[in-house]
Amino acid sequence: MARIELQALRHSYRPDPVDDADYALKQVDLVWEDGGAYALLGPSGCGKTTLLNIISGLLCPSEGSILFDGVRVNDLSPEERRIAQVFQFPVVYDTMTVYDNLAFPLRNRGVPEKQIDTRVRAIAEMTDLTEMLGNKASGLTADGKQKISLGRGLVREDVNVIMFDEPLTVIDPHLKWKLRSKLKELHQRVRTTMIYVTHDQTEALTFADRVVVMHEGWVVQQGTPQELFERPRHTFVGHFIGSPGMNLMPCELADGGVSVDGHRIAVDRAIAPPKTGARLELGVRPEFVRFVDAHATDALPVDVIGVRDTGRNKIVETNFAGHKVRALVPEGISVPQGRAHVRFEIDRTQVYANGWIIE
Ligand code: ADP
Ligand code: MG
Repeated sequence: MARIELQALRHSYRPDPVDDADYALKQVDLVWEDGGAYALLGPSGCGKTTLLNIISGLLCPSEGSILFDGVRVNDLSPEERRIAQVFQFPVVYDTMTVYDNLAFPLRNRGVPEKQIDTRVRAIAEMTDLTEMLGNKASGLTADGKQKISLGRGLVREDVNVIMFDEPLTVIDPHLKWKLRSKLKELHQRVRTTMIYVTHDQTEALTFADRVVVMHEGWVVQQGTPQELFERPRHTFVGHFIGSPGMNLMPCELADGGVSVDGHRIAVDRAIAPPKTGARLELGVRPEFVRFVDAHATDALPVDVIGVRDTGRNKIVETNFAGHKVRALVPEGISVPQGRAHVRFEIDRTQVYANGWIIE
């Protein structure tokens, strides 16, 4: 196992890149601690697969270093890096049985047959393939084949990291849930570093101890699910994670304070003005917008324009100084109508300059 460090990684698929727009990975500095359960989360096209392929050695980065336990591995082959990678679509040997498919990575490395047998049966049990071990892989459905791919990724015990690239895309929803829980369980047992790539926040937040969020070739935040929720470092994390996402509205900085269209907003620290010309936004999650009395401290006037009941909460849509601001109201608490007042929780209200939090 290894601690994996990425230093100043950049990657362009173009022969002569000019500016950031030509780079699929713009700048990535990241540490994956040994034994962690990570999710790599971001929308399609943000660079997740590119990053995995650089870690595994299938792709050579345009710039930067990959270190395993402090040693630069840029020039090592995928084989030498000892990585198991499960791709988005199944890769199986159709003419082999399920058993032989699972045994393949071990036979390749000269593991004794007896040991292989024990391991293959354990992995088959975990991936629900026991009944099919003797079948030819060609006869399996798409999700059956993907279970083989998953199994092959898990079968070796000598890997530095196991990387799953949206592995459950072709798996039906019920089994998806089950396999994901099994992966998590497995991680807790073997403690091999795992990187689980997904564009689905629920998948990321349920699998991982730490989530790495990517956006347009940048890593915009790495943190625990709680950190991403309470203190998004980038507006993208604010609106991509959460349901609904963070409220964002243009704001101004003046006299050491923050205001939105002339309404003073209370924040928990002095906000240093960024360089002039920066686009300033105030962000507060719907969970931290509370209805208060008109005379309460820091009350802001809003107009309630709609309510959607989700069962556990009501999502209340309001208009605040021309901006749409949503509030999440727990079941059992009444929702005002028409003109009302809200307060933004002071230590959960952030200010962003060009998308990045002002610390
Ligand atoms: P993700 O896995 O997050 O969907 P990718 O890493 O596959 O993102 O892609 C990141 C960007 O790089 C996209 O704009 C994609 O079109 C581009 N890209 C990916 N693979 C190639 C390739 N082989 N050649 C050229 N461009 C590519
Ligand atoms: Mg991908």
